[in-house]
Amino acid sequence: MDKTKALEILQKADASAELYEDSWMPEQSAFAAWFEGADVLATWDDSPLAKALTGGKDVSDGIRVYPMNHANRLVVNEHLEFTRPVSLAAYGRTFGLGDRLGLAGYAHLQIVKEHDVKPILAQQSMRELTLTNRTWDDVLDAAVWAVVKAGWKGGFGADGDHLKKPEDIRHALSCGYSMITLDCSENLKTPPADPAELEKVYNAIDAAKRAEWEAEYIGNPLAEKLGASIDKAALMRAAVAFGDAIPFIIDIYENIITKAGRRIDFEVSVDETPFETEPATHFFVANELKKAKVVADSMAPRFVGEFQKGIDYIGNVKEFHECFKVHCAIAKEFGYRISVHSGSDKFSIYPSVAELTGGKFHVKTAGTNWLEAVRVIAEKEPELYRKMHRCALENLEKAKALYVVHCDVSKIKPLDEVADGDLGDYLNHDDSRQLLHITYGFMLEQGLREPIYAALKKHRKVYDQYLKRHIGKHISLLGC
Ligand SMILES: [Zn+2]
Repeated sequence: MDKTKALEILQKADASAELYEDSWMPEQSAFAAWFEGADVLATWDDSPLAKALTGGKDVSDGIRVYPMNHANRLVVNEHLEFTRPVSLAAYGRTFGLGDRLGLAGYAHLQIVKEHDVKPILAQQSMRELTLTNRTWDDVLDAAVWAVVKAGWKGGFGADGDHLKKPEDIRHALSCGYSMITLDCSENLKTPPADPAELEKVYNAIDAAKRAEWEAEYIGNPLAEKLGASIDKAALMRAAVAFGDAIPFIIDIYENIITKAGRRIDFEVSVDETPFETEPATHFFVANELKKAKVVADSMAPRFVGEFQKGIDYIGNVKEFHECFKVHCAIAKEFGYRISVHSGSDKFSIYPSVAELTGGKFHVKTAGTNWLEAVRVIAEKEPELYRKMHRCALENLEKAKALYVVHCDVSKIKPLDEVADGDLGDYLNHDDSRQLLHITYGFMLEQGLREPIYAALKKHRKVYDQYLKRHIGKHISLLGC
């Protein structure tokens, strides 16, 4: 069998059939194709892989097609090593490519192929799982099938993102996830701004612990050298903020991460807090974890400025640069990478990230591919877009409880004043981007799931093209 012949056979049965060129696997007698309106895995003889797949049907001339479902994903994982998520801790640059709908992975891999960066393809938080009504398995299924379609053999990770509970972490690991991002926000305390109040809260910490920390941290020469000098007030803020979080991180690491039976990439995230992570605090956390022999592969501080969803960085880029420099120095000293969350569209700070990390970073993006999906619909299916836009406006206040955004509705042009041909322009303005970015869960829940998926299937090539352009811009600016 060769590609031309295989395609000919498929097209005799369905004229619109297509073959995913890079998926061709002669050793397994298998390849991925678009056939009768869906992606399928096709085989042409009785390889061990073909024998294990289920739910197939004959096309002709020995070719059978199988659905890309969960059961067959597990078979593929068993037979094809490159389809299993792996630890990427050994690589300098990794890029988190969340995919809310599970349709973007193939285009993401086309971009990754052209750059020096490793992909985390499945990256979903509990919040996103709930809002999209998907499971850990669904998300990983989509990532694995994207790997098969793209013939990507370079390795990929799967991230259980922003997990707070031991049971959620265990569940993600049992599904095969290779990375855990531990969200410590529920164990963090905001340090009081009032010095007397701060001292009071600090003094509630065990006296022996305080004495140990004071001897170790106040005027610590290494912290000083890294640009994160620590005085008594800075120590009090760090200890109050992280006093409870550190034992929590250690517990998760010792009892779950190191007991997973395989190498798990472990990220500690403190970005979803109301207070910035001061360099002194970062140093304190890094050093406490090192003392406890916790090996973090990456850490996500909350940086100065605002990282709102779907739009560029808000804040003083120069100030960010200086502060980020110190965070990078601490990370380098303690041997992990800095992770930048809500990294979509933060174009103005990418040069700093590329430069100051020395090419060792993790950047997470997610919602941006959803917005590109909305752009496709705005341009190609105006009627559906209008329904989505109305749904977004109706549910904006509820969505704002879940995501921090400015989004001023008065700045968004009323829908009935915009002609069909101009709807795509909503994706070019910050307020409407945020409106559409955070309300996806309501759209999917309120009757628009089917039409959205159908539209993106129909216009899948346009979607792929837009994703490549948009994610490609991110990766290029990061110097990959
Ligand atoms: Zn985050």
